[in-house]
Parts: sequence; structure tokens; C-alpha cells
Amino acid sequence: MAVAHMDQQIAERVDALGRGSKKLLIDGEWVDAASGKTFSTPNPATGERLADVAYGEAEDINRAVRAARRAFDDGPWRTMSSSDRGKIIWRIGDLIEANIEELAQLESLDNGKPLTIARAADVPLAADLFRYMAGWTTKIEGNTIPISVPYAPGARWHAYTLREPVGVVAQIIPWNFPLLMAAWKLGPALASGCTIVLKPAEQTPLSAIRLGELMLEAGLPKGVVNIVTGFGDAGAALAAHDGVDKVAFTGSTEVGKLIVKAAAGNLKKVTLELGGKSPNIVFADADPDAAAAGAASAIFFNHGQCCCAGSRLYVERQNFDRVVEGVTEAAKNIKVGPGTDADTEMGPLVSEEQFARVTGYLSSGFAEGAHATCGGDRIGDRGYFVQPTVLVDTNPDMKVVREEIFGPVVTAMPFDDPREIGDVANDSNYGLAAGIWTSDVSKAHRMAAQLRAGTVWVNCYNIFDAALPFGGYKESGWGREMGHDALNNYLETKAVCIQI
Ligand code: NAP
Ligand code: MG
Repeated sequence: MAVAHMDQQIAERVDALGRGSKKLLIDGEWVDAASGKTFSTPNPATGERLADVAYGEAEDINRAVRAARRAFDDGPWRTMSSSDRGKIIWRIGDLIEANIEELAQLESLDNGKPLTIARAADVPLAADLFRYMAGWTTKIEGNTIPISVPYAPGARWHAYTLREPVGVVAQIIPWNFPLLMAAWKLGPALASGCTIVLKPAEQTPLSAIRLGELMLEAGLPKGVVNIVTGFGDAGAALAAHDGVDKVAFTGSTEVGKLIVKAAAGNLKKVTLELGGKSPNIVFADADPDAAAAGAASAIFFNHGQCCCAGSRLYVERQNFDRVVEGVTEAAKNIKVGPGTDADTEMGPLVSEEQFARVTGYLSSGFAEGAHATCGGDRIGDRGYFVQPTVLVDTNPDMKVVREEIFGPVVTAMPFDDPREIGDVANDSNYGLAAGIWTSDVSKAHRMAAQLRAGTVWVNCYNIFDAALPFGGYKESGWGREMGHDALNNYLETKAVCIQI
């Protein structure tokens, strides 16, 4: 494997991940898939094989669920003191931080994202998430509740609630932020005392495998986290499994709906973090240069492969030309290249499938009459590189305006009446995020209240913190990730009522 700018030790570790016996993590051991099969994960900058990993299927899901079930029922995870559980989770955060360079390299190689961004954002945010959740283990509290019971006059009661872990949790994650999505899922489930079977995306299994090693090093008991690398069929087996109490999924709205159906068999609890088509609204009273820079980063960050990407840009007419020009200039100046090159600002799309999807949307936009102020095509003829693209002359019925592209493509539209833009922005099946650019505080609050989205950013975009809940209205999902809201995804409430 030829990798530039990588020190020898890290190169050896990264290389070793594709070989040896480190395959699926089941019951604290690294084991081969039951079938013995493997699949290769390619480097999206070249399309060439990066590493081979175990090809987990239904039988491996069975083994992993059995291990998670045993670890949940027999302990010690659920029964150890909350303080001890917190210490192990905190240590996972420490170990992520201590291995930041290796994890960033893996993430960049496997996903294609710039190494500089993996190093500055993905990996530190993952470490922070585990530490934030470690603090919650000692703060999961019930209530004491004064009850009256009208049909039992004169009786006296002591009633209280307990918050208990939901049980064995299936977690299915996508490829756009592989390590960070694993952290968002694992952190609150571990803090709650659940045990887990994690299914990383087929495109990006490597950082989850390394995280599995670090979790064992941190002292996580065997069977608490099991990792089965594989494809959609492994995810489907997990979502349908009777031994699973809850499924948490991040990915496409289409597969999210399949998860809901699969979960119906034993009515397992479901949370979903799905797609988006997020509006980014620039009012005439905003600083146009700051808004243009913000709008460019809202769509081009992570190559537009963000569920919350600001993919519908609406600009009040008198500033439209200036803001679109600013976004266009920013797009033209983005240095696109292999994620592992030091000066790369945007890498390739993650896979051939995504490449075909995004270029297909570009063709559809042009066929429907849109024009590009920049970009609109692939870059070179090797790897999955697509030009950052700004589309104008679009209308609300076009596919490129309605559907999630999940690539570096923004549609820009002018608006005349600031009172109507809220309705225009809300005209979507999705409701994940929204951006507002204005210098008018009252307008900012009014719009924030009106927009049907789980996150509203004002004069900023793509700001994430472990303490801030994130998730979708409408078809963008069920439940919230991060913040103390996320614990609710993994806790049951038990009412205890004692006659005294
Ligand atoms: P996807 O198919 O929804 O994949 C997400 C995860 O679900 C992966 O781990 C996938 O496994 C697994 N999966 C696939 N089919 C499944 C099934 N029937 N039951 C259970 N799990 C299943 O997403 P994708 O195909 O990678 O991307 C397609 C589109 O989804 C993107 O273009 C984008 O619009 C959207 N997306 C959204 C997010 C987000 O953060 N909300 C993230 C990624 C993609 P395999 O990958 O191994 O097949
Ligand atoms: Mg898929």
C-alpha cells in the first residue's frame, strides 16, 4: 500500500488492519466470519484495494447478538458501579486522543476525507463525545413521585422511577463520518449500561475496527461491544433479530423505512438519523461576505456528504449576485485531491456508487434547465472526484432541489419576500437542519421558531458539540443524538410503587 506522508509505525498499523486475525469483534475476541469470507475496502482516491476485512453475515450477527445478550444479562457491565462504567468510557476518549494520528490516517484513507479535517474535527469530536457521555453515567436518575390513587382512600404510598438500560442494542452506521458516527452511537448506549452490536458501513470499516481494539484496551468487558463488518444484509439481519431490544440507525431515509419494518417483528425500540435537504437562508441585512463563506462551507464541508449539508441556498434578491459570486469563488478555490495530501481541502466522494449518484443528479439538473456558475463535472478520470458545484436557474420542482444529492452541489435561488421564505424553506419532506444569516436578532429568533428542523444555525453552520442534541423533524428521523437527550434512546423508565 503506497501512502504518502505517513510515518512508518502508523503505516505498519494501518497496513496490519487488513491482515492477520483481526476480523469481527465478538465476545471480546477477533474472529473470522463464519463463512471465512472477506471483502476489500477500496481507497476512494484511487479506486484500488486498501484492506480486506471479514464479511459478516446473518450467522455472525447471531453470534454477536448472543454475546451481547450474555454480556447484558450476566454483567458485569450493567451491574458495575456507575462511576466505574464512567471511568472506562472516559478512558476510551483518552485512547482515541492518544491515537489521533493513526485514526485520522485511517479515516482519510478509507473515506477519502482530508487528513487535516479528520485530525482537527472527526477524531477530537469522537474523543470528546465519549468523555461527555462518561460524565452522564453517575447522573442517570429517576424521580420520587407523590401519588394519590383516588380509588384507595387512606392508603399511603412511596412511588419512584428507575431509569434502566433498554438491553441489547443494534447500531448501524454510515460512511460519511465513520469514527464519529460510531462514537455518537456507542457513547450514550454505553453510558446507559446497554450492550451493543455495531455494523459499520461496508465502505468504511477500518476506524471502527481500530476503535474496537481501543475499547478493549480501555477495559471494556467482553461482549459489551461487538463489531460485525459487512453489507446491508448483515444490517437487515440485525434490525430484524429477536434478541435485539433496540435498533439505532443512521443512513438513508429509504433504508430507515426498511429498519422500521424489520423492527416490527418484536417491536424493538427504534431511533433513526436520516437524510436532509437543509435550507440556508441569507437575508439582505446579513454580512454578504460572511454569508457567502458560510454558505460555501455549509455545502462543501466533507464534500457535501453530510446529512445536514446546506444544500438549498436562498438569498434575498438584492444580495443574490454577490453571495452566489462569493460561493462560486470559494468553490473554485477549493483544493481537491487525495485526502492524505497535506494541502487537500476536499477529497474524493466515498465510492463509485456515490460518484454515479452525484454525477447523475448533475445531469438531471442540467436536463431540467439548471446552469452551473462553477463545477458541474468530474475531475480527472481516476478516483471519485467531483467539482464543487453551484447550480442557478433552478426551481422548486427540480429533483436537484427536492432530493438529497449527498455531494458538493448547492442550488441557489433568490427570494423577494422575507415573510414567505420560511414556508419555502419548510417545503421539504426533510427537517434535519437549517441556516439563517441576518444581523436582525428578532428576525433570527422568529425564523428559528418557524423552521421545522432539528437544528437551526444562525450566522454559522455545521457547529457540533457533544452537549448539543442533533436529529430530525419529519422524514429526517426519530430521536436525538448527543446531549442528554441521547440517553433517552437507550433507557427505559420503570415505575416502582410501594404501599407503606
Ligand atoms: P444506506 O444504504 O442507508 O447505509 C447506511 C447503513 O445501513 C450502512 O451500514 C448500510 O450497510 C446499512 N444498510 C443498508 N441496507 C440495509 C438494510 N436493508 N437493513 C439494515 N441496514 C442496511 O446509505 P448508503 O447507501 O451508504 O448511502 C445512500 C444515501 O443515503 C446517500 O446518498 C445519502 O443520501 C444517504 N446517507 C445519509 C447519511 C446520514 O448521515 N443521514 C449517511 C450516509 C448516507 P452497507 O453500507 O454495508 O450496505
Ligand atoms: Mg446502501
